[in-house]
Amino acid sequence: MTDAVLVINSGSSSIKFALYPMSSGGEIPLIRGKVSGIGRAPDFVAFDAAGAALDETALQNLDGDAGHGELVQGLLDWLASEHSGLNVVAVGHRVVHGGQVFDGPVVITSETFKQMEDLTPLAPLHQPHNLAAVTAISKRASDIVQVACFDTSFHRTQPRLAQLFGLPHKLSDAGIIRYGFHGLSYEYIAGVLTDLPGCKAEGRVIVAHLGNGASICAMKNRQSVATSMGFTALHGLMMGRRSGTLDAGAVLHLVQQLGMSVDEVHHLLYRESGLLGVSGISNNMRELQESPDPRAAEAIDLFCYKAALEFASHAAAMEGLDSIVFTAGIGENSAMVRQKICRQLSWLGIEIDETANAEHAKTISAGGSRISVHVVATNEELVIANATRALAS
Ligand code: ADP
Repeated sequence: MTDAVLVINSGSSSIKFALYPMSSGGEIPLIRGKVSGIGRAPDFVAFDAAGAALDETALQNLDGDAGHGELVQGLLDWLASEHSGLNVVAVGHRVVHGGQVFDGPVVITSETFKQMEDLTPLAPLHQPHNLAAVTAISKRASDIVQVACFDTSFHRTQPRLAQLFGLPHKLSDAGIIRYGFHGLSYEYIAGVLTDLPGCKAEGRVIVAHLGNGASICAMKNRQSVATSMGFTALHGLMMGRRSGTLDAGAVLHLVQQLGMSVDEVHHLLYRESGLLGVSGISNNMRELQESPDPRAAEAIDLFCYKAALEFASHAAAMEGLDSIVFTAGIGENSAMVRQKICRQLSWLGIEIDETANAEHAKTISAGGSRISVHVVATNEELVIANATRALAS
């Protein structure tokens, strides 16, 4: 029997999972996979350590109404029956919101669970799904140690000014502040900065997590000092479907003058804006890059322009900039986006080596560039696995 740690990332319509050996040092998941289409027709895929597909029919008996809890239990059943040589002794969960309470991972007890439940109003679309997975596992096997790893914790090191909005202080006191997200990704990148040739790991670094959701984080000495997402994950960069930072007066206008309901505005800002809204074509960067439509080009240009402006403002937060790291789907794979952002920032002393950029090399800045620029694949699951190993043993 091999003791294993199960990592669960339970989102609104999908559950991603990865199984690592409990012994530290194992960085490759033994099994990883995903249940998608929750609430419609759940679809299950899983792969072994070598990337070979495993039994995709495993969860086929679950009907379309199966919720997150049932699916997590189905996953545990599948692991127990098909992979009986693996003994899940601990589970690490990605939990979106740790509020001002959690500045690092915690073992889930009835007390910490209640504290996480109390944070649900800050992330009403995500926190309940994260917690449903916790409940499903404790019902099934109460002896399994469960650990919560928060998307917000990495940013708790930020100075007060970086967290405040220009709102009356009683609202700040009530928790209307900038929390920031993508913290598990930033924690992973902070941990590998020293491996990047030419990177000033202990200096002033901007990490750009550019995926469907997109944000940047300014790090000094590998600690977060500012980040582009705010009270919610709507703030900051333009994203696949999210608008990013918007004049709050425009939101009032949508409601007061155009008569839109709160739900309609919510849908507009979270689902119909960003790359999708601007292009009218797709939220998917790769599809936009392949499209000959000028609206696709304009959406990409706007994405890069707005990102570059955020880079400059985060450089100001650190009073300078030594290195940049691009990560996540777009950051790791789109040479075009990296090139456009860096070109807009060339006045800072950034120069890209086009060949290295096209090859997605670890270091893509030219030899004479004052600021080093890098590309790194992020690994949030490994951060959760390592935190869970540490707290569970
Ligand atoms: P999520 O936030 O859902 O985890 P990802 O980090 O997987 O998202 O990023 C998804 C984005 O990455 C999509 O816009 C996708 O088009 C983009 N992407 C992936 N591969 C490429 C590529 N080769 N070129 C350009 N964009 C890419």
